[in-house]
Amino acid sequence: MSQVLSLLETDAEPAAVSAPAPASRSAWVEIDVARLRTNFRLIREDLPPHVGLAPVVKDNAYGHGALTVARAAIEVGARFFAVNTLEEADELRRAGFRTPLLLLGERHPDELPACVAHGWRVCVGELAIARELSRLATEAGRTVPVHLKLDTGMGRFGVRWDELAAMLPELLRLPHLDWEGVASHFAMSDEADKTFALLQLERYQASLQNLIEAGIRPRFQHLCNSGGVLDLPAAHFNLVRPGILALGVFPSRVCRRLPGIAPVMSVKARLVSVRRLQPGDPCGYGLRYHAPTPRRIGIVPVGYGDGFPRLRNAGEALVRGRRAPLIGSVAMDAFAVDLTDVPEAQLWDEVVLQGRQGGEEITAQDLARWKGSVSYDILVGWRARLPRVRVG
Ligand SMILES: *Cc1c(COP(=O)(O)O)cnc(C)c1O
Repeated sequence: MSQVLSLLETDAEPAAVSAPAPASRSAWVEIDVARLRTNFRLIREDLPPHVGLAPVVKDNAYGHGALTVARAAIEVGARFFAVNTLEEADELRRAGFRTPLLLLGERHPDELPACVAHGWRVCVGELAIARELSRLATEAGRTVPVHLKLDTGMGRFGVRWDELAAMLPELLRLPHLDWEGVASHFAMSDEADKTFALLQLERYQASLQNLIEAGIRPRFQHLCNSGGVLDLPAAHFNLVRPGILALGVFPSRVCRRLPGIAPVMSVKARLVSVRRLQPGDPCGYGLRYHAPTPRRIGIVPVGYGDGFPRLRNAGEALVRGRRAPLIGSVAMDAFAVDLTDVPEAQLWDEVVLQGRQGGEEITAQDLARWKGSVSYDILVGWRARLPRVRVG
């Protein structure tokens, strides 16, 4: 842990500048802070007042900058910030946030002393972890707030809903633990078929009943990710954990739309070379593309080393408000686009890899489709090698 903390000291969030012109590289990630704040406001206004927000800012807020997103979330009165690792919690702590931190996922016993010392809320899904937390709390002479994690069907973490009743007497006997929250997680909240989500909700409600019968009523009851926030109001209880929605990306194509929500992240670059190919000329590694006719192409200085998917003759980028197809295979540091149908394109033109330009937009979902993945993977995939620039 101490090694990790000293690493963090030199590894702070990259300094973001407020002007839109980044000097360090011809490729960058833009984070629109005004949009982020609007998204949080729209989510807040969409929820009944008794439902609190626990924004999920794990993995550097899906690559958007945990501190940037946490700052915006504070304006709508976040009750908790949810993260996944101790390093993520420590970044927020060191930045001076007072909002309590909720650690999602499972913990190793070695992680617990730091959690107790800093008051980070652990999600407890194992008896052994509850026992160790209780021991540490007793040793420190304090009561430690914890959240009981229930497995209602996700099958990863937490106490199985059908084993809770049997385990409760032992859990509740442990001294110096304050069962502040009870959590579970949806496996399928954002798809059209809500059958399984509703089954999970039913199991969660039965578990709450078990807790109440055992004499405890956790102050925070939370089950909803973004899909649940949008589509399962019966599961809101009094706390929700949206992640991707605040970033302006809907968790799926079929979930409810919240009007006004728009993407916070754009990924941009400049054309660093514009050149001609004669018929038959190849372009790039492996000669995966040969010009069928005379072509005018542009080179974009972004590759899989930046988190761009390793596509081959697939995908598009925006140049002068038009969709230019990718040609050849994406390399570590660069890829090529066909500019033949964008004759006005010039060296140093701005290229949009994710986001809007003119009337066109390339969404995280578009990139996910080309990659054969999900939008979450695209958002977190943009590496720190691309400077983050805050705008708005
Ligand atoms: C990541 C995560 C969330 C947020 O999910 P989104 O789909 O991004 O809203 C909520 N709860 C838990 C337990 C998570 O791991």
